[in-house]
Amino acid sequence: MLTKTKIYLSSPHMGGSEQKFVNQAFDTNWIAPLGPNVNGFEDDISKYLKNDKYVAALSSGTASIHIALQLLNVGEGDEVLCQSFTFSASANPIMYQGATPIFIDSEPDTWNMSPELLEIAIKDRIEKNKKPKAIVAVHLYGMPYKADEINAISKKYEIPVIEDSAEALGSYYNGKACGTLSDIAILSFNGNKIITTSGGGALIVSNQELKDKAVFLSTQARDNAPHYQHSTIGFNYRMSNVLAGIGRGQMEVLDERVNARRKNHEFYEANLSKFSSISFLEEPDGYFSNRWLTCIKTSSFEMREQIRLALLEEDIESRPLWKPMHMQPVFKDCLHFTNGVSEDLFEKGLCLPSGSNLSQEDLDRILNIILKSPHL
Ligand SMILES: *Cc1c(COP(=O)(O)O)cnc(C)c1O
Repeated sequence: MLTKTKIYLSSPHMGGSEQKFVNQAFDTNWIAPLGPNVNGFEDDISKYLKNDKYVAALSSGTASIHIALQLLNVGEGDEVLCQSFTFSASANPIMYQGATPIFIDSEPDTWNMSPELLEIAIKDRIEKNKKPKAIVAVHLYGMPYKADEINAISKKYEIPVIEDSAEALGSYYNGKACGTLSDIAILSFNGNKIITTSGGGALIVSNQELKDKAVFLSTQARDNAPHYQHSTIGFNYRMSNVLAGIGRGQMEVLDERVNARRKNHEFYEANLSKFSSISFLEEPDGYFSNRWLTCIKTSSFEMREQIRLALLEEDIESRPLWKPMHMQPVFKDCLHFTNGVSEDLFEKGLCLPSGSNLSQEDLDRILNIILKSPHL
């Protein structure tokens, strides 16, 4: 029997011209955290997002959130409201700043931050004289959060939103690109994201001054002097010019990658939605998801595990949905406002292989294993 190749959840997918930009970096000796590819990549992202945004390419999405918190003056003892249903990197930088996260559960329409719970939490904290300094909202799995509702609350209470768009480059909300729905946003180019620089991220802000400050903090906060002088604590967070070359090549194929991921989702949905024991996250009117990962919600923990293990047996990687932050040991003492939505998703939800490089043969192989589930 032929041995079958492993199928990954979401693996890097080069377009072709990445190598050219990387070679240019070598040919010109720009092997540094600055150079023409960094500027070019920032321009490419800013053009893609439209909307007059200023982009700083940084070493990771996590670093970008860390800098975003600093631009908003989040510090020791402050409280920050954060979506609970997310990857830990949305919350960790809050701790780096000596601040405290307060976790907000999701609503069922987008699986993202519940505007109702957000407002309840804000009122509670204000009553206790602890007005939160910022809100971290996430477009999880590429599905935009309820931006109008979240932004209205942000405005009403004057608490800025950090838009965690790490999983949502190529997604749109009422025609506006994710990454531009708030005054400050971040992207990730980690190896498993919709496009990658192997590791990298970007901070998106609304004016040149904020971008300059972000770059200053990310390049060790050097004062303007001929010697090395520092009046602020800095970070080494700038993106390498070599990796930015990969990013420039990836930007050329971003739309193709979104199409391929949406096709994966359509395939799974067309073949599995007829079963009442499997449901999909639908796009509400005006929402366009890049479908970074296709997620199914099964009818029980047993069913989810059965499918996950049956796929694993055939060397196919799938993954339970994110474990909510309020359930994580490391955040067990943090205040949280919950409604059961994310706990239910964590119990029954599974991310299926979703790479833009999956072949029809791969998809058929995955489907046939799921179709054998005794729980269907
Ligand atoms: C990947 C991810 C991040 C962090 O990005 P890195 O580039 O891996 O540091 C942050 N938030 C979410 C929701 C992510 O999926």
